[in-house]
Amino acid sequence: MLAPVKIAVCMKEVPDASATKRIDPQTLRLDRSGDGTLNEFDTHALEEALRVKDASSETEVVVVSMGPGKAMDSLRKALAMGADRVVLVTDEAAAGSDLIATSKVLAKALERESPDLIVLGQQAGDSDGAVLWAALADRLRLPMISQAASLELREGKARSKRQTEYGYDVIEAALPCVVAVSDAINEPRYPSLKGIMGAKKKPQETVSLVDLGLAGDEVGAAGSRTEVYALGEPAARGETQRIEDEGDAAEKIIEYLSARKIL
Ligand SMILES: Cc1cc2nc3c(=O)[nH]c(=O)nc-3n(C[C@H](O)[C@H](O)[C@H](O)COP(=O)(O)OP(=O)(O)OC[C@H]3O[C@@H](n4cnc5c(N)ncnc54)[C@H](O)[C@@H]3O)c2cc1C
Repeated sequence: MLAPVKIAVCMKEVPDASATKRIDPQTLRLDRSGDGTLNEFDTHALEEALRVKDASSETEVVVVSMGPGKAMDSLRKALAMGADRVVLVTDEAAAGSDLIATSKVLAKALERESPDLIVLGQQAGDSDGAVLWAALADRLRLPMISQAASLELREGKARSKRQTEYGYDVIEAALPCVVAVSDAINEPRYPSLKGIMGAKKKPQETVSLVDLGLAGDEVGAAGSRTEVYALGEPAARGETQRIEDEGDAAEKIIEYLSARKIL
């Protein structure tokens, strides 16, 4: 196999970065009901898949997501960038899914697609766990490369450089495998006008839990093993003093610290 024939890219709609984050006091979950946007980290995953497709026309790029029905509006951007189709798992019973439940649903959706390569972003900008790819690889019993700062595909293998504190690890995994890319891997393309116009006509499938052979109580709040006991505002900061540098900031800082016997 010269290039993977089918690449699945996991992408999530997250609350718009400009929106004030609010915790729903009833569910103790992040209120995601407002305007959403495509998770920025996932556009790097898509870009990497699209580069494979650019080089090999028979490659299909399918976006797989789980979220509310309104997420399709954000996912259309992925189609405008060049993805071939979207599969969105959306079901009332899936709301409130923790990592265990989310990975269960996405693993089923990915099994249904049976891709040669699964690409994810490094983290979801709303909950920032940076862990879902590991849970998915475990469920699918596939090898995984995380923090990939490069991705090369040849002779049925994925090869990546993974940034470490001291340099790079070079890791190779046989396809099919899971690769979570870092946001340093590439510069995602902007959708072209032609892409935006064409996106509407591309397949946009919504799938329920039943379609995936899952019962409502296996996922969502009922199927989640994480229990949130309480959430609160971060503790207010103590006394703070802002020091503007007018050429004497260093003296002022020393004075401030000395007065408090820190120096
Ligand atoms: C009790 C509880 C209830 C929760 N309820 C909800 C809820 O109702 N709605 C909700 O959105 N989240 C909910 N969450 C958060 C949700 O569990 C996590 O978003 C999910 O497990 C993914 O983990 P993460 O955000 O850490 O993803 P990360 O590990 O940070 O994400 C890594 C990559 O995984 C992929 N990815 C992540 N999420 C998805 C997705 N949904 N679809 C496709 N690809 C994805 C992306 O490529 C992303 O870059 C809840 C969490 C808890 C603990």
